[in-house]
Amino acid sequence: MNQIWRRGLTTIVTVTMAWLAVWFFFGKIAALLVCAFSLILLGLHQLGNLSKLYEWLAEPDLDALPRGSGAWHSLFYRLHRTERKRAKRLHELNASLDRLRDASEAMPYGVVILNLENRIEWFNSAAQEHFGLNSAQDFGYFIGNLVRLPDFIGFLDAKKTEALVLRSVRGSGLSLSVKQVAIGDRQKLLLSRDITQFERVDRMRRDFVANVSHELKTPLTVLSGFIETFEDLEFDQNQIRQYLGMMREQTSSMLRLVDDLLVLSALESEDNRLREERVGLRTLLESIHQDARVLSAGRHTVTLKLGVEADLRGNERELRSAFGNLVSNAIRYTPTGGKIALSWRLLNGQGFFTVEDTGIGIERQHLPRLTERFYRVDRSRSRETGGTGLGLAIVKHVVSRHDATLEVTSEPGKGSCFSVRFPKTRVLLPEFAGKAV
Ligand code: ADP
Repeated sequence: MNQIWRRGLTTIVTVTMAWLAVWFFFGKIAALLVCAFSLILLGLHQLGNLSKLYEWLAEPDLDALPRGSGAWHSLFYRLHRTERKRAKRLHELNASLDRLRDASEAMPYGVVILNLENRIEWFNSAAQEHFGLNSAQDFGYFIGNLVRLPDFIGFLDAKKTEALVLRSVRGSGLSLSVKQVAIGDRQKLLLSRDITQFERVDRMRRDFVANVSHELKTPLTVLSGFIETFEDLEFDQNQIRQYLGMMREQTSSMLRLVDDLLVLSALESEDNRLREERVGLRTLLESIHQDARVLSAGRHTVTLKLGVEADLRGNERELRSAFGNLVSNAIRYTPTGGKIALSWRLLNGQGFFTVEDTGIGIERQHLPRLTERFYRVDRSRSRETGGTGLGLAIVKHVVSRHDATLEVTSEPGKGSCFSVRFPKTRVLLPEFAGKAV
């Protein structure tokens, strides 16, 4: 027996006892009057409580639950508890929905929920960016009307499950990989991934392999030609010496290329952190100056001007390779009789290593691309002088590993100036030179 029964029966028993007592003491008429009066009171009590419940159900407010007496009190109490539980569950549900929304916003993938007619029901901000969607007006629209690419519309209709690559979606310049996944039989998920960077790197990798193969092919073809000639014909000692000299040139050119490739790959390797040391600039630059004079073999006037005494915080081997490449370029691209000036100076605490030449110069349009791997202004001149096309790419890497910048100015027919600017943080001054900066 539950509380309602217990309280109800108690009331009925109490009223019946009272009615019987009235009958016993005051007679039948009085008993009937008391009975009618108590029935009216009971009816009014029930109606009053029912009306409170009715009013409350129209706008259920947990803090304004009606108060009842007797069985109604238990009923309202139960209702209150049930309502509290429901509100708690609703709160938890909303919290998990918020978490789900936050997770989908944090995802690097675009997510669009489409209905069976490919109309948009929901999308996250990555999808908004990928497909150029507008959260204020695109809900309910057929996505094919917004992304008007025939491949894409065909893909949606065919319900293909393999990924589709879309390029320059709505003029964004982005490349996307798009997949669709069914959610039950009434909706589907459209997932998009930005593969622009991946495609760029892949293209660079393919170009690089093609370039290396091409660079190696020329000397290898020449070498195999010589070998065939040696097999087929007889030569005297002089000719053999001459041909061997030419063969040595080809093998050195291949070796230079492989050396530069190894240097580049070491510089680009992520595990290869810059090993820093105090690099004595005077010793380094004097040795580079000496090498330059040997390379020029008296064809140019090569000078070195050392400004304020200072050292660099960096890696000597890398700096030697970068500075050496700039100097060797100046020698190779400056005709006999020209001047090459190497200098080191400080300006506002920053250090500048500069190589200036009076050589052939470079036209303005080539300047932004000079540090690309295998980019050459004059292919045949570069090859004739033993260039690999990788020198400035190496310089660029070394410079950036030392937080420095490479500045190039040039005028065709007059000469070029390559300057590496090191930040204050890399310049180390001897105690006594501190005030001269
Ligand atoms: P390379 O081995 O061909 O010299 P680099 O990467 O060192 O390759 O240089 C790229 C190109 O920049 C060269 O092919 C050349 O056309 C141009 N270049 C570099 N330095 C000079 C310079 N001092 N004077 C004129 N052109 C230069």
